Formats: sequence, C-alpha cells, structure tokens
Amino acid sequence: TEETAKQHVKNVYEKVCARDPHEEEFHQAVKEILDSLVPVLAAHPEYMKQGIVERVVEPERLISFRVPWIDDDGEVQVNRGYRVQFNSAIGPYKGGLRFHPSVNSGIIKFLGFEQIFKNSLTGQPIGGGKGGADFDPKGKSDVEIMRFSQSFMNELNQHIGPDVDVPAGDIGVGPREIGYMFGQYKKMQGGFEAGTLTGKGMEYGGSLVRKEATGYGTVYFVEEMLKAQGLSFKDCTVTVSGSGNVSIYAIEKATALGAKVVTCSDSNGYIYDENGIDVETVKRIKEVERGQIEAYVEEHPHATFIDSQEDIWSVSCDIALPCATQHEIDETAADQLVKNGVKAVGEGANMPTTLEAVDIFLDNEVQFAPGKAANAGGVAVSSLEMAQNNMGLTWSYEEVEERLHEIMKTIYANCADAAKTYGYAGNLVIGANISGFMKVADAMIAQGV
Ligand code: GLU
Repeated sequence: TEETAKQHVKNVYEKVCARDPHEEEFHQAVKEILDSLVPVLAAHPEYMKQGIVERVVEPERLISFRVPWIDDDGEVQVNRGYRVQFNSAIGPYKGGLRFHPSVNSGIIKFLGFEQIFKNSLTGQPIGGGKGGADFDPKGKSDVEIMRFSQSFMNELNQHIGPDVDVPAGDIGVGPREIGYMFGQYKKMQGGFEAGTLTGKGMEYGGSLVRKEATGYGTVYFVEEMLKAQGLSFKDCTVTVSGSGNVSIYAIEKATALGAKVVTCSDSNGYIYDENGIDVETVKRIKEVERGQIEAYVEEHPHATFIDSQEDIWSVSCDIALPCATQHEIDETAADQLVKNGVKAVGEGANMPTTLEAVDIFLDNEVQFAPGKAANAGGVAVSSLEMAQNNMGLTWSYEEVEERLHEIMKTIYANCADAAKTYGYAGNLVIGANISGFMKVADAMIAQGV
C-alpha cells in the first residue's frame, strides 16, 4: 500500500542521511527520487521485497585517490580525485568528470546518483558513474592543466575501460582535458582504445554534435514540453545562466528556434543584452580566449555586465534555462521568476533548482523540465560516440543530430507517460524519476542480489 511504501522510503532516506551526514547534495538527490517512487513501490511491492531502493542508493564502488602534481613554480600540489561507480545494472558506468574546488564525496555521489536515472532515460545501454577532483582550473596555465590531467589519469586508468567505466567531461573538463587524459591513458594502456573516454576531439575518435549535445538537447526537450501546451520558443524572451558548453549551445539552439536570449553568466556575474546574446562572442571569449564573460561588453557596448550571479533570475523572461551549476535557483529566485511571469524552466545543469524552488514552480503551474531528463542529450551522444568507436565508424553531423533529436523526443514522451500512468499528469519530475528508475530496477531484479 501507499503507507507501506512511504514508510519504506522514509527508512531508506534516514539511513542514507545517518550514514553520511555531511553529504547534503546527495541527500537532496536521494529525497527527490525516493519521494517520486512512492506510487511505483505501492504498485510493485516486489521492488521493496528485493531491497531495490536500499541497494540503488548505495554506490557499487566509491574510489578516492591522491592526485599529486607540480605547479609552474616547481611546488608540489596535492588534490583529491574521485570516481563513483554507482550502478552497472544496464551497462558500463558512464558519466563525466568535474574539476572544481567544490568537489567532494557528496557532490560526486549526487551527480553519480542522478546519472543512473538520466542514463536510463536515454534508452542507451549505460550505467551510472561520475568523478572529478577538487582541483581549481581557474588561472592555471595550460601546462599545469596537462600535468594535473596526467596525474589524475595515472590513478584513474586502472578503474576504467570501454566495457567497464567510460568517463567524459563536466564542469572544468572539456576537450582539452579529455585530450590530455586520453593521451595519458593510451600510454599506460599500450593501445588505442577509443571507447574508454567520450567527448574526444574529432581527429581521434570523437563524435560530431557531442559538444553541442547537452545544450541542443535541453532546448529540444523544452520545445516538446512547450508544444504540449500549445507554446513554442518563437518570440519568447529566454534567460540562460552559465557560459560553458551547455549554455553556449542552449543559447544557439533557442536563438535558432526564434527566441531572444538576453543573459549568460560566469562566476563573476552576468551579461544582459536586450538585443539578444551574440553567441559567437561568447564562444570566442570562453572557448578560445578562456577569459571572463565581462569582456562581452567591450564588443557590445549596449549590453551591461552585473557583478552578481543570483540577480540573473530577477531578469524578466518567458523561459529560464539554468545551465551553470547546482543550487542556482533557490526559493527567492523562484519567487522572482514566478512574479515576473515565467512560463517554463528547463534545467541544463545538474540539480540547479533546490527542492523548495521546484515546488514553487509546480505549485504555480510553471512548466518544469528536470535536469536528469532535459540535459540527458550530452550523455546520450556520448553513448553514440561509444557506439561509433565500437564499430570503427564516424557518422555524419546530420545523422547524429537526428538521433539526438529523436532521443530527446522519446525521453519527453516517456516522462509524460509515466507521470500520467501513476496519477501525476504534467509532473515531469515524477515522470522522469519513475521512468528512469523502473528500467534499472527491473534489470537489478533480473540479475539477482
Ligand atoms: N557530464 C555530463 C552529464 O552530466 C555528460 C556525461 C557523459 O557524457 O558521460 O550528463
């Protein structure tokens, strides 16, 4: 019954919090999933009997390791590296690596946990994993980045492989870092094993559309969600946060669909451009010069730079796409957005909205696209990259983009259907969690305890 299921998830949740009391982000991710599962557990008591919920919240393996490296002054530096191999029920562990000073076991576990369900939603055969280090790439020279990436791989290499665990990028890890890590992996492996890392350069086994995939995919997902309400991106005002890989391509695709994107940001503050953000300038500043977003106003003097990250959500918009990092939108920001008449919110980042803020959107009938569904396009194309590597083939841009578009449409349809089936029509948070969970749970049952 519903009561038994509620008690069951409550017990598991309390156990998770007691076991690792400092892992706040992980607790939020667990709470969100478990609360959504109550109707499913009530309808399928075998999941409780088989201990699926209790098993799914505990990583299969959590690796933590020392990453020593030498900086440009000749000083020895030490960071901590992680890889969480969370769940391999439906495929090899798959998920990005994040290099950011905020990285700790709680962050890596929350990201790895989300990744299980996200990867399941893509329909591709990939399990859930995540990793990274508390290394701050900001202000580091190119050679320091190389030495760090190599040292990181010196340890990671023994834990990964094309059928075991396949890392990719995340915050602070892009094509440059993937290149350095792949180079080191290849030396240690003594062979060219392309399918062990994704997000590679096109010259050595990368996939077309991988770099655009998360941003484009987020916009495709939100487009489906809007369509169901008789709406579209055309002539909408959109706010986007961040100016990395996800943001840039979300801006590009939303603009291509007729929207006007008026903001983007980095850790110093945000740009407001009432004429619409010029994405080529952002690409040059961030991808080529690796500079600060503030430089945007030098080229576009009518635009303004505001030195606050949070204030971005006070900009009035029809659609908000948080694409920077976790916990960007809290209750205050959500209230602001609702007051200014936001119609839809799509998470390009992982868990950018707090649980309380999500409730504010749902209570006010704002269409809400949860990250594990909306931003799944990145890892989906990573899986297509693995497939191409396995076959020794390279698909055309059109072929990969078409597949990405189909995958995002299917994810939307599955989330909407699952929500409806379990009595929460229109609630894509619950729909995504249920749809992602059931495939993993059924695979776990089939494979025994
Ligand atoms: N880091 C991305 C994510 O959060 C992509 C992971 C991947 O491509 O493996 O899903």
